[in-house]
Amino acid sequence: MFSMNNLVQKLYREKTLKKDELVELINCGEDTREKLRALAEKVRFENYGNDIFIRGLIEFTNYCRQNCYYCGIRRDNLNCNRYRLSLDEIMKCCRNGYNLGFRTFVLQGGEDPYFSEDKICKITETIKTNYPDCAVTLSLGEKSKESYKRFFDCGADRYLLRHETANKAHYEKLHPPKQTFENRMKCLEYLKEIGYQVGCGFMVGSPYQTAENLAEDLLFIKKINPQMVGIGPFIHHTDTKFRNFPDGTLDMTLKMLSIVRLMIPKVLLPATTALATIDPNGREKGIKAGANVVMPNLSPTSVRKDYSLYDNKVCTGEESAMCKSCLKRRINSIGCRIVTARGDSKNM
Ligand code: SAM
Repeated sequence: MFSMNNLVQKLYREKTLKKDELVELINCGEDTREKLRALAEKVRFENYGNDIFIRGLIEFTNYCRQNCYYCGIRRDNLNCNRYRLSLDEIMKCCRNGYNLGFRTFVLQGGEDPYFSEDKICKITETIKTNYPDCAVTLSLGEKSKESYKRFFDCGADRYLLRHETANKAHYEKLHPPKQTFENRMKCLEYLKEIGYQVGCGFMVGSPYQTAENLAEDLLFIKKINPQMVGIGPFIHHTDTKFRNFPDGTLDMTLKMLSIVRLMIPKVLLPATTALATIDPNGREKGIKAGANVVMPNLSPTSVRKDYSLYDNKVCTGEESAMCKSCLKRRINSIGCRIVTARGDSKNM
């Protein structure tokens, strides 16, 4: 048994722990979680002040060739109402977002073969030409190294690709055999080699996940030292085979955010939509636990409910401007402020 207080102090001091020590922390109770939270909030403040960066999320397609067992837009979900946004529609989202103060656009979608390399390049170039002061983040899943390189050369700055789980056996329980752990890992390597600001991440409470798996995720993240880390709770989707699995919890998600903030003090850490979905004040609680990014949705309201990764996703009905003003109020209420800046990571 380790003394919990000593472990928290050791993590704060050394910015890492051994796997068995992390497992102890992962299993800790309320008091220790509060200590982690308070330190993580302090570290966030020391590195980024009270500034919270906003990213405009454009969910531009929900077609997907992949079949992740947990995901509502997986290929085999025949109940999913599929859509694609045109270049004009995407640019309209950007215009709207730019006027609201967004300086990063995140293009996220299923792995949709319709959006060829050429099309992604054209979208990226058009955004960068019209908004040269903005960053473009891509989140398009697994591509070849050549494709990643072309997107980068066309101006894409960042790439989000959650590793999902750092444990191969666990990965294989969440994905069909064609989607290999090795390929996911290789993609992350390529992205780093090419020079993207890279984001990895995982779901908290995904089916079959153990405390050891979470410790492995944390050590993996420490090792690859990314610029961003996306962590949100797993939330079941009725049309997937994981429909009866319990959702990830608020407490465990907050604990993971705090530990990651302490392990990589300068990382960009979003308080995710999934976190806001499992708790009405999830985003605020995420920020209080060390997060410093929020990613409101800029997609047209007509398609939002169709980008349904999990049940009961929040903010599917509101206009972006409404979302932004609601978010501003919420963030101000916890003593932080939304900033209009590209918000590049200081973890370079
Ligand atoms: N296709 C791209 C990819 O694979 O990275 C981006 C889109 S994918 C839908 C974005 C993320 O959604 C995944 O990395 C996964 O962690 C998360 N996600 C999918 N299903 C989820 C669920 N049921 N609960 C919570 N998060 C989920």
